[in-house]
Amino acid sequence: MPDYRQTSPSDMLAKTQRRIIFFIHFWTLVFVTPFTLHQLVMAHWLLGAALVILCANNALVLYFLHYHDKYLLKGAGFVFLACLGVSASSVINGIMGLFWAYPVVIGIFFLMPLRTALYWNSLFITIEFAIAAQHLSPQLELRFIATLILASAFSYVISLLVDRQHRTLLKLATTDALTQCLNRMALTPALIRAEQLHSRYQQTFSLAIIDLDHFKKVNDTLGHGAGDTILKEFAKLLQTRLRTTDSLFRYGGEEFVILLPNTAGHDAVRLAEELRIAIEGYAFSHNLNLTASFGVTQLQTNENHDQWLDRADACLYDAKSQGRNRVVTS
Ligand code: GH3
Ligand code: MG
Ligand code: MG
Repeated sequence: MPDYRQTSPSDMLAKTQRRIIFFIHFWTLVFVTPFTLHQLVMAHWLLGAALVILCANNALVLYFLHYHDKYLLKGAGFVFLACLGVSASSVINGIMGLFWAYPVVIGIFFLMPLRTALYWNSLFITIEFAIAAQHLSPQLELRFIATLILASAFSYVISLLVDRQHRTLLKLATTDALTQCLNRMALTPALIRAEQLHSRYQQTFSLAIIDLDHFKKVNDTLGHGAGDTILKEFAKLLQTRLRTTDSLFRYGGEEFVILLPNTAGHDAVRLAEELRIAIEGYAFSHNLNLTASFGVTQLQTNENHDQWLDRADACLYDAKSQGRNRVVTS
């Protein structure tokens, strides 16, 4: 049985991104520190100062990432200082400074959102182009800029594909394959978020657990395939009656959860009642009529998301034991 309380898929992807950011800041710090000292020894004060600030920025970013799980300045410090450092070094040291442009154009795409990274890269390559003209022959400059653009294009494409893959994986990890609504993996983070919004901004939330009545009979009489079709129809029926801000999750086999933001308990009960009537009157495939039971609860200030869900589950249990096809709240 998977542990649904573990970190959410989006948390796991965010962690991977943080690792990449950590890696780039750490190794830049390690590699640039000796060259920074060298520039200071050479009395290149301005360049030396820019590199000292870059190293300090990296050390701070690493500290905040490691101890506070925060990404300081969202990469802007690194990108600005690295572009400044490389440009200054290219002006002062000529071709020796230009070499550093390669890791910068590659790194930028992994440190910032793609669009912002693209702007920074275009600006940086333009500046490097102007500086290179002072130090290189036209043939050499052409090759320098062509290879710089190529390195930049490779990282852009890789970063774009990784980004798309992240989105696809996130969707796959949080979508129920049968009904296409959100799955149980997505439920816990959504409930935690609701709990946080409630305690910080007193935002009102309610939820409903819905369970189809006597669904086992459907499988037993019509087969599992027909049961699957009916589950899909059921999810669609619920989805079409919800607001776009409401979220539908498949909680278990024939059990669903609806999360209702900005909805008080009595409004959630009214919605549940409407859904119950709609289900009761709906002709599912095989001309089947079904009913469902509901447990509805509003998030209380003194409870956490687990207790909130447990309360709704207890209400559902009561609805079942009171004869099914009803809404119970507490
Ligand atoms: P109750 O009114 O007490 O909820 O009775 P029930 O028969 O609906 O509940 P029970 O928990 O006894 O059975 C649930 C059934 O749901 C068992 C299983 O065959 C069916 N089920 C669960 N997941 C799926 C699924 O993915 N596809 C199909 N076809 N059936 C499923
Ligand atoms: Mg059931
Ligand atoms: Mg059930």
